[in-house]
Amino acid sequence: MKDEFSLIQKIAPKKTYQSSLIQGIGDDAALFRAAAGYDEIVCTDTLVEGVHFLQSTMRPFHIGYKALAANLSDIAAMGGIPLFYLVSIAVPPAWAEEDVLEIYEGMRSLAERYQIDLIGGDTCAAPNELVVTVTVIGRVEKGRHLFRSQARPGDVVFITNTVGNAAAGLELLLKKNGNEPYSEEEAFFVSCHQTPAPQVEFGRFFAESGVRIALNDISDGVASEAHEIAENSEVSLILYPDSLPFHPYMKRFSGEKQLDFALYGGEDFQLIGTAAKSDWEKIKKECAQKGWRITEVGTVMEGKGVYLEVDDRLMELEKRGYNHFRKR
Ligand code: ADP
Ligand code: MG
Repeated sequence: MKDEFSLIQKIAPKKTYQSSLIQGIGDDAALFRAAAGYDEIVCTDTLVEGVHFLQSTMRPFHIGYKALAANLSDIAAMGGIPLFYLVSIAVPPAWAEEDVLEIYEGMRSLAERYQIDLIGGDTCAAPNELVVTVTVIGRVEKGRHLFRSQARPGDVVFITNTVGNAAAGLELLLKKNGNEPYSEEEAFFVSCHQTPAPQVEFGRFFAESGVRIALNDISDGVASEAHEIAENSEVSLILYPDSLPFHPYMKRFSGEKQLDFALYGGEDFQLIGTAAKSDWEKIKKECAQKGWRITEVGTVMEGKGVYLEVDDRLMELEKRGYNHFRKR
């Protein structure tokens, strides 16, 4: 890649969606008008080649898609509406401009779906590996944000859709080195790893319900996210392993493997949360009416930690997930 100015010209959006945008790409900084009655949300996430992805498992399109999806997932877990994104990218010499443009195509496909605008970023050279950092700005109605600290003893623990798919996809990709034909089932898991769907609609549904809900997105496996809710809420979470929601295609894997994918696997970007029993009945009914899958997977108790309930006994679940700084 030679010229950052030519790149910026090519990625600058021709049309924008958000009417609150005053100045996007092209000046010293972006400018947008904040909306009355809302709190602003901002989050950021970095993908590093060799740490978060390999060129053999992710095409540039997927890298862009996933970098934006990770941020939209964080916005979803706050109950927010995404509005804008910024992209900081460090490009090694081996990368051609068209590959970099494909990263932006991946982001654009997801941005189009949520009508969010690319409003800025930064471009620089990297010595060896590609690094991409995406920042998303969103908003949520005042008082409607969903924190992890909202769980209370007696709550139902729930999970949206199905879990473990992204980890299953990564295993298939690594086994086949990313370049063999896939069966329909395999292609499903691979797409869950490469283009995971953030649950923005679910997050909005929870925020709009107006009831007390603790919420977290699943980016490091169910075990790690459940621990975060337990710690922030100063409660204990009991999970029922037989209730974890799996996609029917998961049957090709052993029960043990499925559990490992779900508890300790990768970025499913589903939501895990808790709600009072009385509110849960209403949530469940409304989701059923919409045709959305949501599953009760456990309960909240007083105490500390996360446990699996197996044959009426509690097994403590360690706080393990994908941790980049863990010794392996
Ligand atoms: P400055 O020198 O003022 O920081 P830049 O040349 O870095 O300006 O950026 C010019 C414009 O292009 C700014 O609006 C900036 O936000 C945007 N921009 C730069 N790099 C990127 C990128 N990789 N993705 C999106 N927008 C970018
Ligand atoms: Mg700059």
